[in-house]
Amino acid sequence: MTKQYRITLLPGDGIGPEILGVAVDVLQLVGKQCDIEFTFEKALVGGAAIDATGEPLPQETLDRCRQSDAVLLAAIGGYKWDNLPRHQRPETGLLGLRAGLNLFANLRPATILPQLIDASSLKREIVEGVDIMVVRELTGGIYFGQPKGIFETETGEVRGVNTMAYTVQEIDRIAKVGFETAQKRQGRLCSVDKANVLDVSQLWRDRVTAMAENYPNVELTHLYVDNAAMQLVRAPKQFDTIVTGNLFGDILSDAAAMLTGSIGMLPSASLSADGPGVYEPVHGSAPDIAGQDKANPLAQVLSAAMMLRYGLNEPESASKIEEAVTKVLDAGYRTGDIMSEGMKAVGCSGMGEALLSVLS
Ligand code: NAD
Repeated sequence: MTKQYRITLLPGDGIGPEILGVAVDVLQLVGKQCDIEFTFEKALVGGAAIDATGEPLPQETLDRCRQSDAVLLAAIGGYKWDNLPRHQRPETGLLGLRAGLNLFANLRPATILPQLIDASSLKREIVEGVDIMVVRELTGGIYFGQPKGIFETETGEVRGVNTMAYTVQEIDRIAKVGFETAQKRQGRLCSVDKANVLDVSQLWRDRVTAMAENYPNVELTHLYVDNAAMQLVRAPKQFDTIVTGNLFGDILSDAAAMLTGSIGMLPSASLSADGPGVYEPVHGSAPDIAGQDKANPLAQVLSAAMMLRYGLNEPESASKIEEAVTKVLDAGYRTGDIMSEGMKAVGCSGMGEALLSVLS
């Protein structure tokens, strides 16, 4: 029997429409091969939504996402909207989407592909075999804590304020995802905080430590975020699963991204306790190369594979897509961001064609 899924597509801004187009073509072909029928519905988010409706996350978009089986997002943002007030900025749309869908856990794999070892800025012996999963808390912490804003004090001084806050319930919920993810991998969990300075981090550390009792087969360690950043570039193979808060996870997952050679290669999954997840590349909208057929669509394509695996429970079709990515890299196809000597240079559309051809 043909399985049917409703997917909301959020192309967003910059290179978003280009890379999402490639992922949709791939999904359609794999769907046919695996007896899956996708119904794709596009909706507006980010700068594109601001231009059309005046707001970065129209209610209609949120409603459509909630009614779908999964959401495939590209990226938002660009120079054009950088000077708008904060509540009208594209990034506010993304934060609203995460909060509106209750996406509290963000899974970001940083796996070094053997074909791309030389694209890494680190030495081969340091990055060969790196396979890290960063589990980032997504709906709490300093991006959401109150009070926040730019205020004038009684003495007329202007202050900018953000508040890093976590409740016990928020910490426990993400720690559980961290432990369970580590259990499915190599059984090592590193919790990253700043407990030497921040009270909120001390609570984080206490809760994660207490939870370790329930997971005797997981080896738990703790690192301060500054040391974790250093260790990631010094000896990244020591890490299996990392669990951390919103701000630290944002920064560390970008650092982990660079180990793999290109931010254009990294997918992510944002999971909710009860509704559809959002699957998106780690990178942004790359306005510097938008509309020039230069973007690497592989992070978006691998995000579609994560959607199949984690959101729709279709591991067979997910594997087909992951294998196709490996095959095009083996065949030497490279976009500019991962180009190296002797390889075949292609643009975003050329990479899409190569994927369809190895899948056919
Ligand atoms: P970025 O990830 O968009 O770009 C950083 C660098 O990586 C650029 O040189 C870019 O050309 C390159 N790059 C990124 N993705 C690529 C790809 N697929 N193929 C080839 N090269 C790629 O980050 P930025 O420049 O800091 O931000 C640009 C805009 O994106 C900003 O408006 C920012 O707010 C937004 N942003 C959005 C998200 C998101 O939608 N999740 C995430 C990060 C940044």
